[in-house]
Amino acid sequence: MAARNIFTVDVEEFHDRIAYVRWIDQNGVHEYASIKKAIKTIIKLLEETGNSGTFFFLGKTAERHPDLVKRVFDAGHEIGSHGYSHTELQNLTPKRFDAELARTERIIKKITGTRPTSFRAPKFSLTKETSWAVDVLKKRGYTNDSSVFPFSMFLFGYGSSKAPLGPYPISSKDIYAPDTISTMVEYPEAIGNIIGIRFPFKVRHMGTLITSIVIRMLNRKGLPATLGVHPWELTPVPEAYKDMPLTFKRLLRDYNIPCDRTYAKLFKKFSFTSIERYRSEMR
Ligand SMILES: [Zn+2]
Repeated sequence: MAARNIFTVDVEEFHDRIAYVRWIDQNGVHEYASIKKAIKTIIKLLEETGNSGTFFFLGKTAERHPDLVKRVFDAGHEIGSHGYSHTELQNLTPKRFDAELARTERIIKKITGTRPTSFRAPKFSLTKETSWAVDVLKKRGYTNDSSVFPFSMFLFGYGSSKAPLGPYPISSKDIYAPDTISTMVEYPEAIGNIIGIRFPFKVRHMGTLITSIVIRMLNRKGLPATLGVHPWELTPVPEAYKDMPLTFKRLLRDYNIPCDRTYAKLFKKFSFTSIERYRSEMR
């Protein structure tokens, strides 16, 4: 059987992007059409190739678009939690984090009848400093997490090159060291690794060829590649945001590379599944 990989989506809207949040009036113009279009595209691509994935919904996005949650769930994919308000863990307390999780669980359960058991922190904000979050998650019954980035993005305040490259049991004692007695499994995002040198990459920037090399390198070690995408990576910049400051536009140009075709090719070449299903197949 071909090696299985993990496909994930952080379901949030264009105006939720942490890198741009300061330029966007959160109460102002919002573009709703693009997220629906993007999710529809992702579901279709997965379906056509017999793959599935985990969709980490922001609580507020699920609240605004219950039809989207239902659609993803009915198509057989896993619904995970991305927190409620897209606040990074370092800006939350354990109590506020617990409340964010509870609120999102209620919203998702109302739509699907089940509550999420997989979590992803906004902007990979699970670090040494925020390791308390693992205990909060465990207490609320989560069994899977995908919030560790195994490369130090020190300029942006997240990631660690000490983290394993593939799934490992995680605990708050040392979030980068496998803890065999822990029942919670961490699924770090895929990064490149050539002759022991790690490098981060984004599918939208690297395209099919480099991504395929990264996936094969991980698979050769017996590890799955965990890929992640946002709906806004698949659609052009919403019309409402065309008049942003120059800095914003510069960033935008860098980030706005619709990558649906890349995913279409990757889904044909490799086998992808959700975190939940990957874990049950591993048992
Ligand atoms: Zn996010």
